[in-house]
Amino acid sequence: MIGIVYHHDYNKYDLGTTHPLVGDKPKKTIEYLEKTGILHELTQFAPTKATDDDLLRVHAKQYVDKIKSLSKTGGMLAFDTPAPVGIYDIAALATGGTMLAGEKLFSGFDCMINPLAGFHHASSSTSSGFCFFNDIAVTIEYLRQKYQLQRFLIVDLDVHHCNGTQDIYYDDPTVLTISFHQDGRTLYPGTGAIDKIGRDAGEGYNVNLPLPSGTGNQSVRYAFHELIPSLGMQFNPQVIIYQSGVDTHHSDPLADLKLTYQIYYHLGKNMKTLSTKTCNKLLVAFGGGYNSDASVKSYYNLVCGLLGKREHITENEIADPNSQEVKALVNRIKTILKDHWIF
Ligand SMILES: [Zn+2]
Repeated sequence: MIGIVYHHDYNKYDLGTTHPLVGDKPKKTIEYLEKTGILHELTQFAPTKATDDDLLRVHAKQYVDKIKSLSKTGGMLAFDTPAPVGIYDIAALATGGTMLAGEKLFSGFDCMINPLAGFHHASSSTSSGFCFFNDIAVTIEYLRQKYQLQRFLIVDLDVHHCNGTQDIYYDDPTVLTISFHQDGRTLYPGTGAIDKIGRDAGEGYNVNLPLPSGTGNQSVRYAFHELIPSLGMQFNPQVIIYQSGVDTHHSDPLADLKLTYQIYYHLGKNMKTLSTKTCNKLLVAFGGGYNSDASVKSYYNLVCGLLGKREHITENEIADPNSQEVKALVNRIKTILKDHWIF
C-alpha cells in the first residue's frame, strides 16, 4: 500500500516570485497525479505541524528560536534563503508531513510520499539552500525513539549534496547516508567529496559519489546498480528514506546534470525493489526541482515506478560523456570503503 501526505498550505513554502523556490510545485504535482489517474491509487493523509519537541531532537534551541523570530518579522536565514513571514509554521508543517509519512510505514503502508520534503541542507544549528528544518533527520529521530530502531538508510539522489544530513550523522553508524550529487567543485553547497566517509564510529557510513557536470542516465544507472543495492542489503535497514530530488533533470535551471524523465521511473522502481528486499518501508521525500513543469513529470514517473506500473513518460536520451569517468569514481569509492563493505 502506498500513501501520500499533502496539505493545501504546502504552496505557502514559497521564498518569493524572483526566488528559484516558488511554492506551486506540490500542488501542481498533486493535480498532475490526479489528471493522469494515479492519485487514486495513493491513500492521502493531511499532516500537522512538527512540535518544538520534535524539532529539538535534531535542532539546537537557539536555531529553532531564530527561525521563529524571523518568521514573525520576515528576513534572511542565509544569503540564498529568505525567511518570509510565517515560514516557521510552514516549515514545521512540511516536517510534520515527513514524520506522518514515516509513522504510516509502521501502520500498514510499505511506501509513503511527502511532496514537500527532503530539506537536506539544514544541519542542527545552521542552514542555507532554501532549507529550514531537516525533516529527514527529525523523522529519523522521531521513529528511532518511538520504535527503538537502530538502522536507517538515506539514499539522497538530489543534484545537491546533502551537507546538513551528512553533518548531523557524520559520526553515527546507525544512519547510512548515500549521496549522489553534482560535484561540489561545480555546484552549491561545495561539499560531498568522495573521501568523506564518516568519522569515529560512523566511519564507512557516509558515502558520497560526486558526479561531473554533464553526467547523464547511463552513468547514474551504472553507479546506482554497482553501489546502492549492495550497500543497502548489507546494512539491512529498518527504514529507507529516499530523497528523490529531480533537479538532476537536464532542464533544471540550477544545476548541470543531464538526466531525462525515464531515469526517475527506473530509480523509483529500483528503490522500491530494494525496500521490498529489506525492510519494506520506503519513505520518499520529493526534494529539489526548479523547473516546475519538468519536475512534475519527473515525479509522475517516479510514482509510476514506485507503483510498479508500466506506463511512464519518456524523452530522447542525452549522450553521456562521463561514463568512463564515473566508472573510475565508482571503483575509487569501492576501494575507499573496502574495510567497511563488500562489493
Ligand atoms: Zn537540490
